Amino acid sequence: MRSVLAGDLGGTKCRYALVGEDFTVHRVQHVATVRERPAFLAGLERAIAAVLADLPPGLDAPQAAGFGTAGVVPPAGGSILQAPNLPLDGFPLAAHVQQRFGLPTTLVNDGRASAWGEFLRGHAVGRDPLLCLFFGTGIGIGLIVGGKPYGGAANAAGEIGHTTYRPDGHACPCGARGHFEAYCGGRAITERAAQDLGSAPTGQWTVGGVVAAAGGTDPRARAAQSLLDEAALAACTLVENACTLLNPAAVVLGGGVLDGWPDLRARIEAHVRRHVRPPVSAVAFAPSLGGSDAILWGAAAATGALWP
Ligand SMILES: [Zn+2]
Repeated sequence: MRSVLAGDLGGTKCRYALVGEDFTVHRVQHVATVRERPAFLAGLERAIAAVLADLPPGLDAPQAAGFGTAGVVPPAGGSILQAPNLPLDGFPLAAHVQQRFGLPTTLVNDGRASAWGEFLRGHAVGRDPLLCLFFGTGIGIGLIVGGKPYGGAANAAGEIGHTTYRPDGHACPCGARGHFEAYCGGRAITERAAQDLGSAPTGQWTVGGVVAAAGGTDPRARAAQSLLDEAALAACTLVENACTLLNPAAVVLGGGVLDGWPDLRARIEAHVRRHVRPPVSAVAFAPSLGGSDAILWGAAAATGALWP
């Protein structure tokens, strides 16, 4: 059976594996992400060598490699720009992997890879157009149109987290003010908690920690709830706007913010059903598959070597 080498390059960890054309995932290797480029590349090469060392029975050697990655992938698809947590800014990663392992290599933004995986094999199979939104540290998006990720003219479409929610509002991690990500991105929520609520019971605020503080007997419950209400309104408005603009057949919601704050999912869905005009009664909502198999499938799809 044909296979490709697939990777998921994230700001915290990277994952490498073989993906078969039946979507099975084999020989997964995890590597913690480090911020120094030589150490990062050494870890990547060790992990890929381990994946390729011993092929599972029935699987052919991979003919191509595809990596889903945080950041912007320029139209030529060979490098990564603006991935704040990866030490690869401008580095020709595709050429590097091709040279070391002899595999033609494709890079794809991880939000798009996840959406493609959800569309091919995950929780929204065949739903077209498909809108996937990931509320993580930042806000990721993947839009599938005509069975393929939509990239825009310069492969930079979809930065909805950096559209404006409140002009001159909170400072966004990107340097601008008032963007959605500054209200409902995970980093913004936990930074605001540290600012408004003081130190966390466990040392560092997580979104789940803020939710627990809002619901418990913590004297800061009211302040925590008001912070969450502000974030929820921004998240609901963002998905409402996206649905009005795109009229998707399905919306997949995922990311660490929703893992720590499961109620937000129902709140977003109810808000969209109530506010989008014309109403979107036919739209399906689904949770993302989680883990990173969807990213691996999307990265494998981006190579064009397995599926049409
Ligand atoms: Zn921004």
